Amino acid sequence: MNIVFATSECVPFAKTGGLADVCGSLPKEIARLGHQTCVFMPAYRQTKLAGIDFKPLDIRLEIAINTETVSGNVLQTRLPQSNVPVFLIDQPKYFDRASLYGENGKDFDDNCQRFAFFCRATLETMRFLGLKPDLIHCNDWQTGLIPAYVATEYAGQPGFEDTSTLMTIHNLAYQGVFWHWDMLLTGMDWKHFNWKEMEFYGQLNLLKTGIAFADAISTVSPTYAEEIQTAELGCGMENILRHRRANLTGIINGIDESWNPKTDPHIAANYDASDWQLHKPKCKRVLQKELGLPERLDVPLIGLVGRLAQQKGWSLILELMSRWLESMDVQWAILGTGQPEYHDTLEELAKRFPERLGLILGFDNQLAHQIEAGSDIFLMPSEYEPCGLNQMYSLKYGTVPVVRATGGLADTVVDADTSAISAGNANGFSFSPYNVEALEVTLNRAVGMYNDYQDLWKQLVNTGMRQDFSWAASAKRYEQLYEKTIAQHRAANKHLVN
Ligand code: ADP
Repeated sequence: MNIVFATSECVPFAKTGGLADVCGSLPKEIARLGHQTCVFMPAYRQTKLAGIDFKPLDIRLEIAINTETVSGNVLQTRLPQSNVPVFLIDQPKYFDRASLYGENGKDFDDNCQRFAFFCRATLETMRFLGLKPDLIHCNDWQTGLIPAYVATEYAGQPGFEDTSTLMTIHNLAYQGVFWHWDMLLTGMDWKHFNWKEMEFYGQLNLLKTGIAFADAISTVSPTYAEEIQTAELGCGMENILRHRRANLTGIINGIDESWNPKTDPHIAANYDASDWQLHKPKCKRVLQKELGLPERLDVPLIGLVGRLAQQKGWSLILELMSRWLESMDVQWAILGTGQPEYHDTLEELAKRFPERLGLILGFDNQLAHQIEAGSDIFLMPSEYEPCGLNQMYSLKYGTVPVVRATGGLADTVVDADTSAISAGNANGFSFSPYNVEALEVTLNRAVGMYNDYQDLWKQLVNTGMRQDFSWAASAKRYEQLYEKTIAQHRAANKHLVN
């Protein structure tokens, strides 16, 4: 197959979130499976300054944006440690800026124009290079116009006769919503400005556009794929997603190779499923020392790393902590940054209970690795979680996750109830109702097992550490989805021709 990725972010060229990690890893795995693949993304200022070699291509783009013709160039490089080509759409007026999407907490006014240009320029470059993709894998709202162009203007055009499209939703909360007159910038016919395609409560919605026109839609976990069809987690998009549910799939992200306790250079001792009992305690001691906590191996250490945002369940965590810090013999290791009110409460608690709470407010990749390795329990009681990475890191590092069963957390953590324990597939603890009582009961079960049933605990750790959360496993699922989407698209086209 020939699979072309279109994305606004890709590690190591530009990143604001998880989308960049997916687009930096998945194309390489697809190439390893024997397919032809490449990546298209904008040439941002940070991309050009990343110290990577770029080759300018002899292509001069002339793109119609409303009444204007905007020119552009194309630069070529590769994903590191691979032969996967990366094509960077270069237009300094749009992309030579200090940040990707906005400044001073406000989106750029011309975002619709910038990404309409990117989508058209991507398709024109494919045409020029004769790429003839079997499938264009589009990611988030910034690429939502590509499925629309492929289904309308480019349908049946030379080079696109057999091209199908997949739209992946990494974060449904960001939809690319603009005022209706921005339809003119897209160049799409006004007939598509209707509630089934591009219109959303009177405005233009580019994610909805992608969902409406793509041959297939995916998101980053099977449970989230179900949840986004409900009013509770659908962000207003639940109806169109329900309408397209026959073509909606969830595929869990893989985790990056840098998260491997056997080779991790950031942790005090390396280990795997065969020798964690020997080496993980060293990681625990070093972490306790680093955070100023008493160096005790007998006390359960609960780790948390992440954004201090409501989504991550901080209101529940703080309510529970204020009680547990007074009375429970457990330690907490917390690393995060985010909403100021959470910073304040945590700082106050850390001052009152320095023997039980080790707190670092900031972003620190090395410490994140140390917390994953040194903790016994990892806590993630999220309100919603499209995929979640930290619970997968925890499982791999032998740190038992305690999670709320939502999105990717529900798909990766198997609660240690009696039947899962006897079946040998329990790897953590989970609860469903979003309230502090359910959290407390579940965390109590985890602490109780750690304190009193070490044999069972070791069984959970071993089960988690032996699971495969690699990109190679996720890429196989994407490969199947690509094959199915391409076959369905061809069958539908054939039907049209006949
Ligand atoms: P989300 O994308 O919603 O923030 P994920 O669990 O999918 O949550 O991914 C978060 C990633 O960012 C993980 O790799 C986590 O280790 C990292 N991270 C988040 N906050 C911090 C922090 N304060 N310091 C270091 N790494 C962090």
